[in-house]
Amino acid sequence: MRAKASDMHGKDCVKVAVRVRPFNKRERDAGSRCIISMVSSSIIIQDPRDSQNRRSFCFDYAYWSHSGFTKDQGGLCVPEEPGGRYADQDSVFQDLGEGILENALQGYNATLLAYGQTGSGKSYSMVGYGPNKGLVPKLCERLFQAIRENQDSRQCQVFFSMLEIYNEQVIDLLSRGSRTPGGLRVREEQQRGFYVEGLRTVPCDSAPQVEQLMEQGTRTRTTAATHMNANSSRSHMLIILQLKQIFSKESITKQSNINLVDLAGSERQRSSGSEADRLKEGTAINLSLTTLGNVISALADVAVGKKVVHIPYRDSILTKLLQSALGGNSRTVMIATLSPADICYEESLSTLRYAERAKRIQNRAVVNESPTERLVKELKAENARLLQRLSRLGQEGRRANDETKELRQLLTHNELQIRAIQTLWEQHLQEALKDWEQQYANITQERRMMQMHPYILNINEDAQLSGVVKLFIQEGEWDIGLCDSSQRSISIKGLGIQERHAVFRNEERRVTLTPLAESKVIVNGHAVSQTTELQHLDRLILGSNCTYLFIGYPSERGGDDWSRYDYDYFQSELAAAEGIHLGGSSVGSIQADPSLLAVFYDYIKLIPMVAEANQMSQELNKAVEFGLEIKNLALSDPKGHDLEKEIVVRVTAIGRKQVWIWSKAKFVNRKFLMEEVYQQHQAEKSEENRVEGLSTAALPRDKDPFWDPVEPLLLGTAHLWLQSLAFRISLEEQLEVMGSEGTEEAILQAQLVPCTSTGLPLGEDDILIDPSELLGRRLDFQLVLDQCCGLRWIKEARNRGVQIGLFDSSQPLYTPAVWHNVNPLLDHRVHFTSLHTSQRLLDYLQSSAVVLELWGLQAFRFSRAQLFSESSAAGLGEAEECKRFTEKRK
Ligand code: ADP
Ligand code: MG
Repeated sequence: MRAKASDMHGKDCVKVAVRVRPFNKRERDAGSRCIISMVSSSIIIQDPRDSQNRRSFCFDYAYWSHSGFTKDQGGLCVPEEPGGRYADQDSVFQDLGEGILENALQGYNATLLAYGQTGSGKSYSMVGYGPNKGLVPKLCERLFQAIRENQDSRQCQVFFSMLEIYNEQVIDLLSRGSRTPGGLRVREEQQRGFYVEGLRTVPCDSAPQVEQLMEQGTRTRTTAATHMNANSSRSHMLIILQLKQIFSKESITKQSNINLVDLAGSERQRSSGSEADRLKEGTAINLSLTTLGNVISALADVAVGKKVVHIPYRDSILTKLLQSALGGNSRTVMIATLSPADICYEESLSTLRYAERAKRIQNRAVVNESPTERLVKELKAENARLLQRLSRLGQEGRRANDETKELRQLLTHNELQIRAIQTLWEQHLQEALKDWEQQYANITQERRMMQMHPYILNINEDAQLSGVVKLFIQEGEWDIGLCDSSQRSISIKGLGIQERHAVFRNEERRVTLTPLAESKVIVNGHAVSQTTELQHLDRLILGSNCTYLFIGYPSERGGDDWSRYDYDYFQSELAAAEGIHLGGSSVGSIQADPSLLAVFYDYIKLIPMVAEANQMSQELNKAVEFGLEIKNLALSDPKGHDLEKEIVVRVTAIGRKQVWIWSKAKFVNRKFLMEEVYQQHQAEKSEENRVEGLSTAALPRDKDPFWDPVEPLLLGTAHLWLQSLAFRISLEEQLEVMGSEGTEEAILQAQLVPCTSTGLPLGEDDILIDPSELLGRRLDFQLVLDQCCGLRWIKEARNRGVQIGLFDSSQPLYTPAVWHNVNPLLDHRVHFTSLHTSQRLLDYLQSSAVVLELWGLQAFRFSRAQLFSESSAAGLGEAEECKRFTEKRK
């Protein structure tokens, strides 16, 4: 392949478009405000917490797809009125798709990238949903149309491939064989650059054929996701269209590669990076996406003239494959998709910044001219020469046997090569067409089955992957499970799915489901163990998280809209079964508190992940259990305000009774690592892939994501109100230490004793009627922690200990650790002094409490630092106020 530099086009900047979608259900429920506005091609984003803070960006295109549209009868979204501002799929294609098509036809490489957070509309723009076809199918339609129109001047060949990059593994989405463990290899060749070895490329000659291949690819993606227990929002989907044009008159061949890339959700990187975790270092939650960002930044720097030594293309699979698209030989377009909602402000802003950087990248696109046709010509010419020589040799009558033989060999070889070049395409196409006919027959067959039998339909977290798997339940009895040997079985794979998981019975047009043995089956949010009759639109969860919607016989179906039974619906139903509801907002009448909504959505997002983590733990014999908890942050607020709640994951080592509390981000990160360990384990289990010396069982402790070194755990808090001090009255309290879920963890006996500077308790005579008398005067008091009683933590396991801490001090204070005792004596005393009592301190005393934290210890070595000593408290004497009691935890 030779590349001819185009004279007219020196540098091409990456074109950038931004698109904002309508509110989704979550955002509507939360009563979200739209913070994005657009004026021609500039876009303004407003900080929801500060209306003065607006940022404006300018791109090549800005698409308003947020409002001003209706659905026509066929379900197509169109502008409410002709010429309205709503940007539909057609107008996006007009701007972005047509240009790419034109480029490709001219022989340039072209690349289209969709970037944005999960759920922002990448797949909607690239692939589309139902009648609202996206850029890829539209591009293919137009491509084949253009090919037909130009039939006279050129012969065209289109090759289609579709692949996915998940966790730096390449999965061929069109391959029908079993998946290569570890994925396909990416290789490099001088001429070709990076390419995927053994990737299936299918010759195509019509748009329906391409759509069918995409459907097949999506199906593979869906099943691969369940098998690998992978989350599609973390994967990149690439469609590669190779267009070869043979201009016989000019005897040249042009070839262009069109890369269409639906990138992984842009949001994960930060959520996992925000927090300390001992395993964070080795984690590349999405190496490809991170590297893409680095490449874009480096190229943007190059564009503004900065010296850049190294562009890290080679650091990830994605950037290797996109090398020519970024800063190289390609015309590149990026569509950045945004949620309109205030709650997505940070993400949207970061998307816009990313897009702005991408805008600066300069490519040098060239027309790719191939010597293939010339090669044919050259070979023909050479053969003519050879023939001449042969005949000359014959005429001269010279005995040059060896030379003749060699010449004849060359001749045959050349002829074969010519024929190969000319017939290969025809052959490939014929094969692909046969293949396609088969696929097409399968689809027709499936459509017919849908009209005859009940079936279950997969529901995926990613709407794009929902409804692509249909499993039919014909008359009679059917096992469902991993089993694929038996004829009367429906084979599914997934975490927690048993060999024979359950039995479907379809008799007299009634369908029942019977779970087998220990298998997990949930119907409409409730675990079932008995035979259950299924109704049309029942929700099934098999194993940890294989979610299906049951579709009854056609006569039961009616005209209902199934789309409301999405993934969120399934998980909300589970949460409801656990007693966690979303107020009245499900009816749409009451608007729920947005912060509570966020907690609710965190909760339902984590439910399936926790189920999966538990299943993996069980299969890997990790003896660790995961559970969700709603942590009430109010427990640590010195004013006892009802602050936000937060979802945390409680991790319990079953035998050792060790407990950890992980934040949501930490858990999500760890779960990803667990998946890696699990996959490796699966690979080892299958005999043929046994890797010598690589055993998950031997995973070193410090790399094990299911485990952490034991650390102290905050069990609960108690509030000791300071008001009495303002009157110099001493106080003795039995405080209830409350756990984050409202459990009573212990009783803490504590005192507040106003005293003299030497620590002698004040008497009744010193009591003040009016606290303002304290103003400007010195205040001394002692906090006494006498005893802890009824420690639940120690009752559960005697090898444990506790410490009491004062939370929110500039320097944390802890009592010495006490071990093994359910009612330990603490007998601890701290002296506090304020030399000069200010109004602020007085107000604070009258309205606030000391928050006492009860920390659970799990091993001797790991007690909190013992700073709770007289000397550290004495330092307070210098301060104007009791700095120890800052007003609010930040
Ligand atoms: P992503 O691929 O970025 O994760 P999707 O494209 O799957 O997100 O979009 C998430 C949901 O939002 C889908 O249900 C989709 O139909 C809807 N959606 C996205 N963009 C639009 C749009 N421009 N108009 C209407 N609906 C949209
Ligand atoms: Mg998507």
